Amino acid sequence: MAAALSHEQLTALAREFGTPLYVYQADRIGEQYQKLTSAFKGTDVRFFYAAKALTNLSILHYIRDTGCGVDCSSYNEVQLALHAGFKPANILYTSNNVSFEEICAVQATGAHMNIDSLSNLRKFGEKFGHTVPVGVRLRPNIMAGGNLKISTGHDESKFGIPVEQLPELLDLIAETSLHIKTLHIHTGSEIKDVEVFAKGIEVLFEVARQFPEVEVIDLGGGFKVPYKPGEEGTDIPALGKKVKEEFDSLEKNTGRHYQVWFEPGKYMVSECGYLLTKVNVLKNTGSIVFAGVDTGLNHLIRPMFYGAYHAIENCSNPDGVVHTYHVAGNICETDNFAENRALPEIREGDILAIRNAGAYCFEMSSHYNARFKPAEVMIENGKARLIRRRDVLEDLLRGQERG
Ligand SMILES: *Cc1c(COP(=O)(O)O)cnc(C)c1O
Repeated sequence: MAAALSHEQLTALAREFGTPLYVYQADRIGEQYQKLTSAFKGTDVRFFYAAKALTNLSILHYIRDTGCGVDCSSYNEVQLALHAGFKPANILYTSNNVSFEEICAVQATGAHMNIDSLSNLRKFGEKFGHTVPVGVRLRPNIMAGGNLKISTGHDESKFGIPVEQLPELLDLIAETSLHIKTLHIHTGSEIKDVEVFAKGIEVLFEVARQFPEVEVIDLGGGFKVPYKPGEEGTDIPALGKKVKEEFDSLEKNTGRHYQVWFEPGKYMVSECGYLLTKVNVLKNTGSIVFAGVDTGLNHLIRPMFYGAYHAIENCSNPDGVVHTYHVAGNICETDNFAENRALPEIREGDILAIRNAGAYCFEMSSHYNARFKPAEVMIENGKARLIRRRDVLEDLLRGQERG
């Protein structure tokens, strides 16, 4: 496995490109994809990277070159994927609560798609009849994932068509001759337990009996990766083995063969990323020492939005005496990246690295407080390359009247 970037390398990158700075180690992405393909050897499988985790064009381009497909959650993501050189046959679109106009726009590109409401499926069937194969996103009523905000398959979730509404779906197919090619579920993010995927397979195999035209079982994404030291991710080799067993045994017993699709987002890009930030201010309030940094929830919102844990390292003083800090952002909100975190002594001017900053980090950033978005750098073959320049004032003014 590619070694994590060293504290010296990270400090040097911060000096060269300035802070705050996102850094992505491309080799780590390639390795994650390798791990997937080797774990699923012998299974008829396809992977579609869930682009919403990180859509930088250079990242998309790198992932395209690995041979992986891409899963998009909006028409604009499909446009970015096309721009990055993905062929429509390698693009999948899985959306939620979108207009039928958006669905038609994506359909015109030739991408695969999963539709997640009876209402849009009816419109699709009425317009395309049997001519355009489509996937249907089901809600399996399985509770899984790191926390409720990132759980999507449970029985109060807005995502997918509840399995108990299958009779309505079957009626709709009879009426419009809709061509259902794929059954899809995505039960949430950070699913460690292989059994959750096994449960999903069981539900979909049962459902598929009523859909003779189905060729693909799409199990979505949601593989867990370690965030905390010592934490374990989804056991991908065990998952590969389990999936192979289930699909082989179905084929043996019933003669039905399905291709299996996955849509990994976090698994592909979480660990490749670092957010480098400089400590602006140290503030000792008596009970708490705040290390105030030059970034905030405008750049990386996961700790504040989901209570997510991100490991933090002091790159410029890694051997300092350990103290306890609240690492706090510079936005006019309570935006602590970490509370009571033991870290080597932090001094003003130190460079901290926030780890696991590849997935849902830059991608969820905003211009809140009219601050600039960070620059992004990709390391490939040992070389650092700027893949998005830091904002300038013109980026905040663009598209607005001068007043
Ligand atoms: C977000 C999403 C994914 C990726 O989830 P991860 O937890 O990042 O793997 C996959 N499929 C769909 C439909 C999604 O919405």
